[in-house]
Amino acid sequence: MTRTRAAFTVVAASLLAIALAGAVEAGNISPRESTADLSLAAPGNQRTDTDDATSTTEQVAKEPLRGKVVVIDPGHQLGNSRHTDQINRLVDAGGFQKPCNATGTATNRGFPESTFTWRVSLVLKRQLQARGATVYLTRRTNSYDDWGPCIDVRGRKGNRVDADAVVSVHGDGASSTVRGFFVIRPGLRRGWTDDILKPSRRLALDVHRGLLASGTRVSNSYGGDGYDVRTDLGTLNWSNVPIVMVELGNMRNAIDARHMTTPRYRAHVYARGLRAGVSTFVTR
Ligand SMILES: [Zn+2]
Repeated sequence: MTRTRAAFTVVAASLLAIALAGAVEAGNISPRESTADLSLAAPGNQRTDTDDATSTTEQVAKEPLRGKVVVIDPGHQLGNSRHTDQINRLVDAGGFQKPCNATGTATNRGFPESTFTWRVSLVLKRQLQARGATVYLTRRTNSYDDWGPCIDVRGRKGNRVDADAVVSVHGDGASSTVRGFFVIRPGLRRGWTDDILKPSRRLALDVHRGLLASGTRVSNSYGGDGYDVRTDLGTLNWSNVPIVMVELGNMRNAIDARHMTTPRYRAHVYARGLRAGVSTFVTR
């Protein structure tokens, strides 16, 4: 009896996981909505003792990311521009020296990249936590009083908490005709990124798909496919767990700037797209 029930629970949970993975990939069905469908479709519904199984399925449905650890790196820090000595200090970026951090870009009206990445990251954090994930940010503030952390510290954060995935959030500062997002994954640096190349590529594909499904568009630059590979980014090089960096839009483009300064767009398009991509990756 116990064994039967356990088996049913496992089957139900597996079915749910499959349904959820599909839903997340499609990017337009919330786990809660999919629960109702699944409980109807699940075998053994006529059983009289499904209560335990049902509550387990509901728990999985509510928190499909329970046990998963995600690190979000909100690019830059508001006070970097006021702490140039500190952020220009050279650090090891993966076998070569690079400044600790950069000031980041801004819209033409002066909305800073660090504030954009901070706000998207906070929304994304809440969305992931609501689904049961444990989420860490690489910085605790968005303040003119603070600077950093340096790229090596950001890159090591995922290793320290044994993250299932790391997403570094940025906004681009390209020429004004460039618009759209692109996903940057680590390229090969022997002794540094060998171990994370393949999973980071899968993470890049999932995040790319998630962002497209949420309604944003691929960059018309950087090759036009919405992907880039870099070997010169300390944040990526230091990671021993799957990692990508995303440039969600070009802050110097009028349309992207409008989207990037709109709370609804940040939550429902950028954060939601990232959440869908990361969720798919970590539950695969
Ligand atoms: Zn940036």
